[in-house]
Amino acid sequence: MTITFADLTTIRVGGPVGRLLAAETTPHAIELLRETRSAGDPLLVIGGGSNLVVGDVGWAGSVLRMTSAELDIDGERVTAAAGMDWDRLVTTTLGEGLAGLEALSGIPGSVGGTPVQNVGAYGTVTSDVLESLVVFDRETGEIETWPIERCGFGKHRDSVFKHSDRWVVLQVTYRLRRSTRSSPVKYAELANRLGVEVGGTADAAEVRDNVLQLRRSKGMVLDPADHDTWSVGSFFVNPVLAEVPAQAAESPQYPDVNGTKLSAAWLIHRAGFAPGYGAEWGNGAVTLSSRHTLAITNRGGATAADIMAFAAHIREGVQDRFGVTLTPECDLVNCSF
Ligand SMILES: Cc1cc2nc3c(=O)[nH]c(=O)nc-3n(C[C@H](O)[C@H](O)[C@H](O)COP(=O)(O)OP(=O)(O)OC[C@H]3O[C@@H](n4cnc5c(N)ncnc54)[C@H](O)[C@@H]3O)c2cc1C
Repeated sequence: MTITFADLTTIRVGGPVGRLLAAETTPHAIELLRETRSAGDPLLVIGGGSNLVVGDVGWAGSVLRMTSAELDIDGERVTAAAGMDWDRLVTTTLGEGLAGLEALSGIPGSVGGTPVQNVGAYGTVTSDVLESLVVFDRETGEIETWPIERCGFGKHRDSVFKHSDRWVVLQVTYRLRRSTRSSPVKYAELANRLGVEVGGTADAAEVRDNVLQLRRSKGMVLDPADHDTWSVGSFFVNPVLAEVPAQAAESPQYPDVNGTKLSAAWLIHRAGFAPGYGAEWGNGAVTLSSRHTLAITNRGGATAADIMAFAAHIREGVQDRFGVTLTPECDLVNCSF
């Protein structure tokens, strides 16, 4: 049976996989990376496929799926292999009495995928607790240990990994805190639910429960039966602009080191694309999530080309209305819009 990217990604589109390799342990990942490097085989590395859209032509070379899941807990220092399921790491560390990852509960994907866009939610980003990484350099074949400073986490949802496939993340080390209290809650909606001030703390397990409830209400927890979650999460990045165009002056604005961050969800909605938009557009196979305007969803029969056409339509609408160009947050391979 031919394996396609529709089988390997959460948005469930994309053509055939040339050769699928699974790296079950870190040494196995290194072995496979060395083999494909010597063979000069075009290689695509994937984790949970939750931030990836691959075109309908697929990928003719090898696809290395990271499933390595070794975990080492040494006091407050936690080292996880790249293929470990991210939410499993969150639940395991909370179960061990270690706080720090609770606000990042319920995010799909692998440990190795999180540094790629410095994954974040509810005011927390993984770089808040990330200490170092071990990477495989595909150019030299060497294995290197990097301090967090090498990752290039300056801009929102950005890193050196986002711009180059040279480095494959093999394992990640986090510095957590031995406590049942959460890290400071930075997001007003979450703080309200927990009945604490922004900047206050709460029981870490309670923070996880509330984050999961909030995420579910927005279709942001994977559920195969729920098409609102057949997505890559947020399709577009919240734009950070040096100057906010006059038409977008009413958008919620947040200070950012690189300028002013606007809400892409707000811009999309106010450009005329309400939650669920799309049923009447094109062939109806792609719509915005009925619970979140930032998620583009596959309603069951979509192709990658359908997703690209829909994304272009949304980007054009926002551009026309607000003069702001949205860019994709997910990684696009052999497709574009
Ligand atoms: C329902 C839903 C909700 C989401 N919510 C959030 C959210 O709240 N916050 C957020 O930031 N993101 C969110 N996302 C996006 C996604 O979950 C994260 O970006 C996640 O970290 C991607 O990990 P992955 O293993 O699935 O990566 P993949 O999709 O497999 O890969 C994404 C990119 O990373 C590269 N990559 C993967 N593994 C490695 C590795 N080991 N070394 C080097 N490169 C690698 C791939 O080549 C690809 O370019 C959501 C997605 C969905 C579907």
